[in-house]
Amino acid sequence: MTKRRLFSPGPTEVPWQVSRQLAQPLIHHRTDEFRQIHRELVEGLQWLMRTENPVLVLTSSGTGAMEAAAVNLTGPGDKVLVTVLGKFSQRWKEIAEAYGLDVITVEATWGDPVPVEKVREALETNPDVSAVFTTHAETSTGVLQDVKAMAELAHNHGALIIVDGITSVGCEELETDEWGLDVVVGGAQKGVMTPPGLSYLAVSPAARERIEHREHPVYYFDLARALKSYKNWDTPWSPGIPLIIGMREALVMMRAEGRENILRRHARNSQATRAGVTALGLRVLASVPARCTTAVVIENNRAESVKKYLVKKHGFQIAGGQARLKGKIVRIGHLGYYYEADMVALMAAFESTLFDLEIIDSLGPGVEAMLEVYRGK
Ligand SMILES: *Cc1c(COP(=O)(O)O)cnc(C)c1O
Repeated sequence: MTKRRLFSPGPTEVPWQVSRQLAQPLIHHRTDEFRQIHRELVEGLQWLMRTENPVLVLTSSGTGAMEAAAVNLTGPGDKVLVTVLGKFSQRWKEIAEAYGLDVITVEATWGDPVPVEKVREALETNPDVSAVFTTHAETSTGVLQDVKAMAELAHNHGALIIVDGITSVGCEELETDEWGLDVVVGGAQKGVMTPPGLSYLAVSPAARERIEHREHPVYYFDLARALKSYKNWDTPWSPGIPLIIGMREALVMMRAEGRENILRRHARNSQATRAGVTALGLRVLASVPARCTTAVVIENNRAESVKKYLVKKHGFQIAGGQARLKGKIVRIGHLGYYYEADMVALMAAFESTLFDLEIIDSLGPGVEAMLEVYRGK
C-alpha cells in the first residue's frame, strides 16, 4: 500500500474543497437554486476563458463537446480543415469523417506543432473550407500550437475556427474573444480540477448563427436547444448536478488565486519539470512545450515499465504514450492543482524509479535542477 497521487494529464487531482461538494445531498435541477449555481459556474468559465460568449455546459466527457461542435457547425459534405499533430487532434479528423465531411488535414510530426504556414497554404488551395478544427495543447505530445495565428487565417478565408482547449483552459494563455475563437471546447478533468463527466463550449455570435441553421441531424447534442435553455440557466436534459456544483467550487478557488497567478504557476511547474528531466539526461519530446503536460522520451521502449514501477512503488500515477508513442514516452501531467512541493515529490519518485530500473546511474540532479528553477524567481 502506498499513498496514491494523480499526475496524469487528465484526470487530474481533485482538491478536497471540490470533493466535499460532490458529497452533498442531491438537489433538483429544475429549481432556482440549481439555476443560480449553473449561472455562477458559467460566469466562472467566462472569466477563465476570457469571453463574453455563452458557455454551454454539457454532461459528457470532453469528446462530447468536440462532437457537438462538429455536428452543429457543419453541414453534410462540408469541407473542413483539421490540424493533426497527435492522438487528440486526430480525434477531430475522426469525428469529421464520422459525419461524412470532406476533411483536409495538415499534419506535423508528433512532437511538433503544425506550422502556421502550412495551414495558410492549405487554405489557399482550398478556399471553400468552411471551418478549421485545431488543438491548442496536444496532450499526447505536450505540444502547444499558435491558435491565435490560425484564427486569423481561418477568418481571412471566411471559415470558423474551432479550438480544442481541453487541456489549455486554465493552463495556457487563451484569449477567446480577443483572438476571435468561434468555439473553444473545454473539459472538467483537466485544468479545472473536477472529476470527468462535464464538458463546455464557448460559442461566438458567428458560431451561434451556424447553430441556428444547422443541417446535420442531431438530438442529445442539439446546441440550438441548449442555447434556448441556457437563456433561463437551464439545460435541455438532466445535467451532472454534483459535478456542476463541484466545478463551480473549483472556479471559486481559481478566482481566489487569480488568473495570472495560475498561469504563472503552470509555466513554472512545466519549466521546472523540463529542467528536472533534462538534468537526468532525458529528452523532452515537444519542440514547443505546452504548460499542461511534459512528455519525456524513455529509450529502449521502457516507458511502460517506468510508469508501472512509479505507480506501484510510489503511488504516483503518470501517463504513458499513446498510439505510435506507446512504450516510447511517459507523460507527466501538471495541470490543475499542482504546486512546487508536489512537483518536487514527483521528481524525487521519478528519479528513484529510473535509478532502480538502471536507466540513470546517479540520484539527485533532477530534484536539484527543479529546485533551482523554483528559486530563480
Ligand atoms: C483529454 C483530452 C480530450 C478528450 O477528453 P475526454 O474528456 O477524455 O473525452 C480531448 N482533447 C484533448 C486535448 C485532451 O487533452
